[in-house]
Amino acid sequence: MARRYKGLAVGIDLGTTYSCVAVWQDQKSRVEIIHNDQGNRTTPSCVAFTDQQRLIGDAAKYQAASNPTNTVFDAKRLIGRKYSDPIIKDDLMLWPFKVTAGVNDKPVIVVTYKGQEKCLSPEEISSMVLTKMCEIAEAYLESPVKNAVITVPAYFNDSQRKSTKDAGAIAGLNVVQMINEPTAAAIAYGLDKRDDCAEERNIFIFDLGGGTFDVSLLTIKDKVFQVKATAGNTHLGGEDFDNRMVKYFVEEFKRKNKVDVSGNPRALRRLRSACERAKRALSFAVDTIVEVDALFQGIDLCSSITRARFEELNMDLFKECMEKVHRCLTDAKIDKRRIHDVVLVGGSSRIPKVQQLLQEFFNGKDLCNSISPDEAVAYGAAVQAALLSGGMNNVPDLVLRDVTPLSLGKAIKGDIMSVVIPRNSPIPIKKTKEFVTCYDNQDSVLEEVYEGERMKATDNNLLGQFTLSGIPPAPRGHPITVCFDIDFNGILCVSAKEKTTGNENQITITDDKGRMSSEDIARLVGEAEKYKAEDMKFVEKANAINALDDYVYKMEKALKDEDISNNKLSQYDKNNISSAITKARKLLDGDKEEEEINVIQVMLNEVKLSFDPIMTKIG
Ligand code: AMP
Repeated sequence: MARRYKGLAVGIDLGTTYSCVAVWQDQKSRVEIIHNDQGNRTTPSCVAFTDQQRLIGDAAKYQAASNPTNTVFDAKRLIGRKYSDPIIKDDLMLWPFKVTAGVNDKPVIVVTYKGQEKCLSPEEISSMVLTKMCEIAEAYLESPVKNAVITVPAYFNDSQRKSTKDAGAIAGLNVVQMINEPTAAAIAYGLDKRDDCAEERNIFIFDLGGGTFDVSLLTIKDKVFQVKATAGNTHLGGEDFDNRMVKYFVEEFKRKNKVDVSGNPRALRRLRSACERAKRALSFAVDTIVEVDALFQGIDLCSSITRARFEELNMDLFKECMEKVHRCLTDAKIDKRRIHDVVLVGGSSRIPKVQQLLQEFFNGKDLCNSISPDEAVAYGAAVQAALLSGGMNNVPDLVLRDVTPLSLGKAIKGDIMSVVIPRNSPIPIKKTKEFVTCYDNQDSVLEEVYEGERMKATDNNLLGQFTLSGIPPAPRGHPITVCFDIDFNGILCVSAKEKTTGNENQITITDDKGRMSSEDIARLVGEAEKYKAEDMKFVEKANAINALDDYVYKMEKALKDEDISNNKLSQYDKNNISSAITKARKLLDGDKEEEEINVIQVMLNEVKLSFDPIMTKIG
């Protein structure tokens, strides 16, 4: 368990659109969601700059329409990313505030503050939101708050996590731990149900927020939470649904009035607010009015939208959500009928169509929404903060387990990826596998450690390599034991050992050195699917080559043994074997890449057919 620290600790859900802060009240044995100065339990992740002051939260959001270019939101979309990242290209078009490329291609937000131009990093904007959340907590608790557990989407990559941590540091916070949002929600949910946790429960967390989407499968048994699999999209959420509606009304306005509002930040900002309101309304009404006075060039927008039209505009995005749900279950190898609870998290999980599709997917199962979807994440973060702080008497004792996001393994003969730890294995984990040498009298092996889902090792990400030497002379096939060991902190150690001599060598690969980013993880997983057919072909061919090579090796050995001691074969047989070996070796030593797989298979069948009876005779 992570280190303990002095002083109060809160849990902060740093959301794309809204943030939430909570604290564990030990005397009351429960979590308190802390309301802000406006009496709201969530606070907009929004910062505004005016001629006089800086505003954060509700105050910033209230004045957004009149000060669009200096009102910054969505910093979470930018954090830890490059300006040239294609993922944020579309956002740049829709944001009313200015973003430019800074040093090392880092995005810089440009605002005018007290009459002067100011350049800010996304970390700084997030730190301002975090500062506000701390102030909210301090006002309520009447004591300073310096420690926090902050949540991040499960799919955030290393750089995004580091930048979030930096934001905490900029805010003067000691970020005691960062936990994944769905895991935090599971903690909250587990608490709710802690009395009936004796049997293992499979819990599916569906978290559709403002800008990110995460699904996770967790099991809870004997108070131990274990993440079995995660999937998601760092760039899918309520804002995308808003954008679709904004685009829809921009088009409609153009058609009706022959004017284009898309280049006007103020108009877009006002339209976006109206669309977001309409979207929320459509979660309980079947149609709603969208009105913006003097939207552009004095022309009013006065229109309406039905729930059906809203659903139609977003159906592909809703379907994408369901695909991720399916993928998460496939990864966890759990049939959907074995899911005990489906938990809704994130404001956008209130959308009726999303709920309907999810319910249909789980064969009509009731969805759990007893915990407010906006608060569940902060709730869980507060419990974790209390757990880590020590000195609390009533915090339920839970243990969190994480999973490996990609398969880990090593390259074997023929550039095949031999997986030792499959993806989504819970950590810590230790797995040992026997491998063999490829050549006679091989005195050393190069162990190349890879991460990824492709079947060809070099298509994956090379994490590190080391050599095990001092292997005693032996025919090929001599065993080497390789051990993959990942500790609680996600640090991987790979060792290789030759048993007879006890010779051993190892390499330690830490989390942030050479590991893939989550973005890359998602890309690799996608690629793996796309290239699966190609990969299968590669493996089939590599296996055929290895099988032929093994058979030829057996024939060569038989011939050698025969010469030394046996004398069971006629000269005719020996000549035949010899010429077959020459023919097969020519194929094996030639340009195998160019050869069709069936040529290799036919050759193997031929030699087997002719020599199997002879080999058994002498074997
Ligand atoms: P979160 O990131 O979890 O705070 O979610 C915020 C997102 O949820 C925003 O995009 C909101 O517009 C959206 N949201 C909140 N309430 C509703 C609702 N009733 N119907 C649809 N979307 C909602």
